[in-house]
Amino acid sequence: MDHFIYKDGILHAEDVPLLRIAEDVGTPFYCYSTATLTRHFKLFQEALDGLDHLVCFAIKSLSNQAILRTLADLGAGMDVVSGGEYRRALAAGCPPDRIVFSGVGKTRAEMCFALEHGLRQFNVESVEELRVLSAVASAMGKTAPITLRVNPDVDARTHEKIATGRKEDKFGVPIARAREFYAEAASLPGIDVVGVDVHIGSQLTDLAPFEAAFQKVADLTRDLRADGHAIRRVDLGGGLGIPYTRSNETPPLPLEYGAMIQRIFGDLEVEVEIEPGRLIAGNAGILLASVIYLKQGEGRDFLILDAAMNDLIRPAMYGAHHDIIPVIEPQAGVEQHPVDIVGPVCESGDTFAKQRQMPPLAAGDLVAFRSAGAYGAVMSSEYNTRPMIPEVLVKGDQYAVIRPRPDFDEIINRDRLPIWLE
Ligand SMILES: *Cc1c(COP(=O)(O)O)cnc(C)c1O
Repeated sequence: MDHFIYKDGILHAEDVPLLRIAEDVGTPFYCYSTATLTRHFKLFQEALDGLDHLVCFAIKSLSNQAILRTLADLGAGMDVVSGGEYRRALAAGCPPDRIVFSGVGKTRAEMCFALEHGLRQFNVESVEELRVLSAVASAMGKTAPITLRVNPDVDARTHEKIATGRKEDKFGVPIARAREFYAEAASLPGIDVVGVDVHIGSQLTDLAPFEAAFQKVADLTRDLRADGHAIRRVDLGGGLGIPYTRSNETPPLPLEYGAMIQRIFGDLEVEVEIEPGRLIAGNAGILLASVIYLKQGEGRDFLILDAAMNDLIRPAMYGAHHDIIPVIEPQAGVEQHPVDIVGPVCESGDTFAKQRQMPPLAAGDLVAFRSAGAYGAVMSSEYNTRPMIPEVLVKGDQYAVIRPRPDFDEIINRDRLPIWLE
């Protein structure tokens, strides 16, 4: 469910007509709904109600400061995967003891900075990282709270590029060797073992792979306790999928996901952390674009938009589907025609949809890409020297630009000429 709906024939974000924002900021732009973000965060809170828990928003999915502040104010923790994201979480006002630091390639500098400013835990992904972290923490006279991310070798049955829990994936330590690595962790001077971590992938539309992985984590927790480790926390990662089409996908609801977690961990006396990104942010954002041309090609028509793959890369990168709807509601029963919906970038991969049935549209008309809140703005680039597009946050009948469009001078003046070219 989201808060982008037609009212009086015009698509609104909550109570604001999108035409008004488009007039004000120009297209293309991203627009987010506070009500949808809040609703999704609270669904997870309710799903884990009764368990000692923390919902850490995976900020790599959407990391604007206004979004993070909105969620931090609701009590969210943050899952960060780089020093930059750690700084974003702090800057947005997330208390350090609600920040978890994930990622396979943490550098000494990142470890040092996070230890200095504080965090809930590092989710450590290799024994090599564990040794470096111990050395860094010891040198600072500190101990680093850690979980080890275990790779449970389950197939999340999701897109190849976002499956992370099979043994051939780069993430985590093999679960079969976990006890050995925990023994080493316990012996290291700069390390304080606090729990176990797992994350098997993204856009999962079935609970079974989660359940298989979580069962293995619960068993491992018992084994590790028997080995003498004080395991008091499990971090179950993110990955719950969202419906990208309105028709045929029905991923599990947070409530069903939470009930399964309660069943597996309810009597283990552990604190449960989850790290959802996409399910909180995905349907809380849309991308607004204008039609530049309707180009009639050989046997097919192209709808050329002012948004492109550099603004939303998911279709080009993952073959992802986004529903694309006109901002002016089509008349009931209007005839639809197949068009290829593309951007202006000089790559054939800059195609959002092929032979998509669309109502008649003309140059200047506005369209909205639904479900573009997660892995949209954060993955954008300036390819073709296209400025990063603005982000707008709506709350009720108010809206604000939360990242302005840079002007071309700002972009070009970041470059420097070497002395021999001046
Ligand atoms: C990407 C990621 C998440 C969030 O995944 P979603 O599919 O957006 O919920 C959570 N934890 C880790 C470690 C990740 O890498």
